[in-house]
Amino acid sequence: MVDKTSVPRKEIKSSGQMKKIMSDYFYELDGAAKNKSRKIAWCTSVGPAELLRAMGFLVYFPENHGAMLGASRVATDLIPVANAIGYSPDICSYLTSDVGSYLKKQTPLSRAYPGIDSVPRPDVLVYNTNQCRDVKDWMAWFGREFKAPCIGIETHRGVGEVTAAHVKSIAEQTKALIPALEKVSGRKYDESEMKTVMALSKECSVLWRKVLETSSAVPAPLSFFDSTIQMGPAVVLRGTRQAVDYYKSLLAELEERVKNKEGAVEGEKIRLYWDGMPVWGKLRPMSELFTGLKTCVVASTYCSSWVFDAFDPAEPFESMARAYIELFIVRSDEYKEKYIENMIRKYKVHGLIFHDAKTCPNNTNSRYGMPQRLQERLGIPYIIIPGDLNDLRCYSEEQTKTAIEAFIEQLNNI
Ligand code: SF4
Repeated sequence: MVDKTSVPRKEIKSSGQMKKIMSDYFYELDGAAKNKSRKIAWCTSVGPAELLRAMGFLVYFPENHGAMLGASRVATDLIPVANAIGYSPDICSYLTSDVGSYLKKQTPLSRAYPGIDSVPRPDVLVYNTNQCRDVKDWMAWFGREFKAPCIGIETHRGVGEVTAAHVKSIAEQTKALIPALEKVSGRKYDESEMKTVMALSKECSVLWRKVLETSSAVPAPLSFFDSTIQMGPAVVLRGTRQAVDYYKSLLAELEERVKNKEGAVEGEKIRLYWDGMPVWGKLRPMSELFTGLKTCVVASTYCSSWVFDAFDPAEPFESMARAYIELFIVRSDEYKEKYIENMIRKYKVHGLIFHDAKTCPNNTNSRYGMPQRLQERLGIPYIIIPGDLNDLRCYSEEQTKTAIEAFIEQLNNI
């Protein structure tokens, strides 16, 4: 059983710096929206943020707001508001809670950042369907609401090998966004700006990868639950100097932990891999549960989704196209299984957790036999946790706790 009294939470010292740059980011957006001093683009989390930044937009990510709605545990009450206007409880609960939040005029930004009372009004909304169709519908809803243009990229899905034809198609679609963006921004596209942003984004990506890879050490200095918070700048500030500076400092702190054999979980015994979305409203109790079981969730598909190896400032559009189509979520099951196999080896993982998120089939990989195939081929034990990213009505804390405790006991006995 878990002894809660012996669950020390290891704070990451760099987090103070992260809170400051995240706060600056939101206040800058809010100021620009209020004073109309800069144009604002809404962008999907793995959309063409680099192009938007290079064209002078401040970039806001509704999925980041969705995660905040989940983490602050207000999402479950807001989802029915979107259901009432025709958006099903079965579709993405980021979408439904975000639309509900807008309609109810409630945002966790107000509590976190006094003086901000709403999300920043978009001048343009830009999507990439590489992750799912939900993001397009989500952006389209807000586009109608704010009477702002909604434009985007349609990406292939279930991609095995990424071919030149895939890359060409996405690069051309990305370039085709430029005239509409120039019209909104009132500014011409400038290749040198694009290369500068791409170079910063690449640096951010390289550092974020190194941060995550510190957890291949035993004990792991960073857990999945830490990474879901630490990934904020990689999502919303990639392409900026602030994100690069932050990850340099975080990486130095984690390398120091590795050197001192200081684990994120005191007395780490079991190492797990997390596949699928986080359960945002339960990060802390889950983290404490695993810590109490001397178990560290050392790596995840989710947090690795902001590693863009292909970025190359010399070929901004082609490399961005490749990076955004090479993503795990876009790929075939064969590719995904190979990817997870590599992660198991690299991070010395004892078992797999698959989160079956009710409203996100796109980021759920346990419904077509993948855990069973991996177990058969690699002898790796797994557990499937039914739940959701934001809708806590789909998640049973007691059942999950019992299942996880039994799973860890099983792993301890192997
Ligand atoms: S991938 Fe899942 S969680 Fe993310 S926007 Fe799409 S449906 Fe929502």
